[in-house]
Amino acid sequence: MAGIRGRDTKPERVLRTALHSAGFRYRLHVSNLPGKPDLVFPKYNAVVLVHGCFWHRHSGCWWCSNPSSNSEFWAAKFDQNVRRDARNITDLGNLGWRVAIVWECALRLQGDDDVALAIGKWLTGNRKTLILPKDKEMRRSPSAVPAAPKWKPRKPGIG
Ligand code: ZN
Repeated sequence: MAGIRGRDTKPERVLRTALHSAGFRYRLHVSNLPGKPDLVFPKYNAVVLVHGCFWHRHSGCWWCSNPSSNSEFWAAKFDQNVRRDARNITDLGNLGWRVAIVWECALRLQGDDDVALAIGKWLTGNRKTLILPKDKEMRRSPSAVPAAPKWKPRKPGIG
């Protein structure tokens, strides 16, 4: 599982491709911002964080499972992750950045094109924050969703 939290994870790459196709330009992993946000849109004063549901503990999410062994180790690890995320989001807000959080499951439940569309609307709007998936999407049964996400980026320029 090493590297799963590293940069250039697959869900992020899929989303990036979709946003780029939609004409949005961004910088990646800007290191002088809190938490090195995955995608930074200077023109829109906005950052997008792509969070894996397991590592970042997406509350109430089907993919936020609990490991059955070493539970104390995991609890401490998860707690650390959640605290770090909260601090980074607060710090980004204090620096005047608008922050979108895209949980990995949004890409599974809504599809990368829909997520890119929602982010595009948010970028060009004036809301401070955006969190995907929306509640009603999250309540969808995971059985309706393919077990393994298809992370393959769509071919650019189609649709
Ligand atoms: Zn989730």
